[in-house]
Amino acid sequence: MEINKILEYQTLDSELFKLEKSLRENADKKTASQMQNNAKIAQERSYKLDEKAKELQKEYYNAKNQYAIQKKKMDEIFAKDMDKLSKEEVDKLIKLQEKLSQNLSILERSFAKLAENMNALLSDFNKTKNAFQMAKEQFALSKQKFDKAQNDAMPKKQELAKKLSALEKGIDNKIIEAYKKRRAENIFPVVVSLAGNCCGGCRMELSVANLSKLKEEGILTCEHCHRIIYLK
Ligand SMILES: [Zn+2]
Repeated sequence: MEINKILEYQTLDSELFKLEKSLRENADKKTASQMQNNAKIAQERSYKLDEKAKELQKEYYNAKNQYAIQKKKMDEIFAKDMDKLSKEEVDKLIKLQEKLSQNLSILERSFAKLAENMNALLSDFNKTKNAFQMAKEQFALSKQKFDKAQNDAMPKKQELAKKLSALEKGIDNKIIEAYKKRRAENIFPVVVSLAGNCCGGCRMELSVANLSKLKEEGILTCEHCHRIIYLK
């Protein structure tokens, strides 16, 4: 009977399914993908930090420029011969000098703040760089292990595929096509027996019409899960 052939096919295919499933759920594969993601996150962070460093650098040059301008004004005042100036002019210069001195100390404080920010940025950058490096190394390691697992499974997979394709020749085309379609969706087992009045896969009850169709034809496609139901 046809159903025995497809069941035999399925029994053999279950070995292939298990093998594929274990590769799909391979821990090293998961780690590799996680590490790849971590590396990406670290890289994006380092781009952002780089942007921030550029901004800080710009701020630093602006402050430096400002400092030089204020300092030059200050030097100009000191270079003046006070004796030749009127009292009014001297008072004005003293006020200006006070203002400049204030500006210079504000700038000095902002230099200190900038230096602090730069140090924090640098330390963050180093941490990010290390995280990236670590993720890259772990990715390479996990990938290597997973590739090995895949390669190790290859001969067995090929052997099973060969046997399956030999078995396939004795099975009705329509059934094997329907089977492969479900199988490609990682539905397993594809062929299930009737359990009471229910599909042996999804456990949904079959309609009276479908039950009699199944009794007549021996097999039926489940309307819910699309598995192939057969009568024992
Ligand atoms: Zn079903």
